[in-house]
Amino acid sequence: MTDTITRFAPSPTGHLHIGGARTALFCEAYARGQGGRFVLRIEDTDQKRSSEAAAAGILDDLAWLGICWDDGPEAHGCGGDDRGVGSFYQSKRRDIYDRCFQELMDKGFAYPAFDTPEELMAMRKEAEAQKKTFIYRQSENYDHNEAMNRAKNEEHALRFKMSHEPVTIHDEILGEVTFPFEELDDLVIKKRDGFPTYHFAVIVDDEHMGVTHVVRGQEHLSNTPRHVAMIKAMGYRIPKFAHLPLIFNFDGSKMSKRDKDKAVRAAVKAAGDITADDAGVEEKVFAKWKKDKSVQLPQDKLIALAAKLGVELPEIDVEDFRRAGYLPEAIINYIALLGWNPGEKDAEGKDVERFDRAYLAVL
Ligand code: GLU
Repeated sequence: MTDTITRFAPSPTGHLHIGGARTALFCEAYARGQGGRFVLRIEDTDQKRSSEAAAAGILDDLAWLGICWDDGPEAHGCGGDDRGVGSFYQSKRRDIYDRCFQELMDKGFAYPAFDTPEELMAMRKEAEAQKKTFIYRQSENYDHNEAMNRAKNEEHALRFKMSHEPVTIHDEILGEVTFPFEELDDLVIKKRDGFPTYHFAVIVDDEHMGVTHVVRGQEHLSNTPRHVAMIKAMGYRIPKFAHLPLIFNFDGSKMSKRDKDKAVRAAVKAAGDITADDAGVEEKVFAKWKKDKSVQLPQDKLIALAAKLGVELPEIDVEDFRRAGYLPEAIINYIALLGWNPGEKDAEGKDVERFDRAYLAVL
C-alpha cells in the first residue's frame, strides 16, 4: 500500500485535549494534502479508565471542529465503512491481538511473566532505593518449559523480549534519535486481564490499517523505540514517525489535563474553609483530591466549585473553548499554528496568520 494513511488514536478516558485536537488536525490536513486517507481509531484497551461516553464526546468535539475522518466509527457523517479492517474500537479487536500474541510467542519474542502487582511494586521500590530507574528484563534463570507449563493454569502477563541493542528511530521532525538499551525494558504486551497493552495494540493496528505516517505528540517519543522493536519482531512495515512539540502554558509548564484541578485546588487552599459539601463530593474524595495532584474531580463538580470560588478555569479541552464561546474556525486556525507556520507573507509583507481549512489541506 503506498497511499498516505494517517490516524488519530485517542484513548477515551476524558475530554478531547487541545493537544489531541492539534494532532487530529495535522493528521487530517496531511492526509488531505497527499490525497490519502485519515483514520480515527478508539484506543479503549484500558477497561477501567475508558468509557463510551468519553469516546462519543471526542467524536463530537472533532466534528464540531470540522475534522472529519474517512475511516473510523460512524458518527456525524464521518467514517462508517470498515474497509475490511474490522472494528475501529480496540476493545472489539481482541481476536486479532490474540493471533498476534501467538505469532510473537512462536517467533520467540514473547514470554509469560508471573510477577504479581505486589512483587512488581517491591522491585520498583528496590530500584528507587538504589536511585535507579526500574527496568524489567527477563531473569537469567528463566526456565521456558516450566513457564509454558505454569502458563496453562496460572494468571500471567506476556512480555516482549527486548533486544540488548540500542534502538535508533528516524523522526520526520527530530531526525535520528537513539535510545540506549539500558533504557528499554521487556514491556508487557498482554495484561493479566487478557487485554493487550496500548503499546502492542498500536503496532498491530497501524499495520493492519495500513497506516503510513504516525503523527503524535512528543510525549510518545520514548514509546517509539519499543514500538519499532516490536514492529521489526513482527516483520511489519516501519511507518514514518513525526512527533509534534508539546504544548506549554504561558508560565512554561507543560499544559496538562490536570491544570483545571490545580487552579481550583490552589483557590480552595487559599480560602481555607471550603468543605466537601461545598464541592458536592464525598468527604473522602475531597480529602484525597486536596492532597493528591494526580486526582481529578468530576468535571461538573469542578466547574461548579470554580464558579463558587470565582476562579477562571484554564482552557485545556476543546469543550472548555466551546463553552467559552470560541468559534471552531478560530480554534482550528490557532492550533494549526502550534508547531507550524505557513512561512508565507501577505500583500502587506506580514506573516500569514489567518487562513481557512481549505488552505491547510493543500499544503
Ligand atoms: N492512544 C494514545 C493516546 O491517547 C495515542 C496513541 C498514538 O498516537 O500512538 O495518547
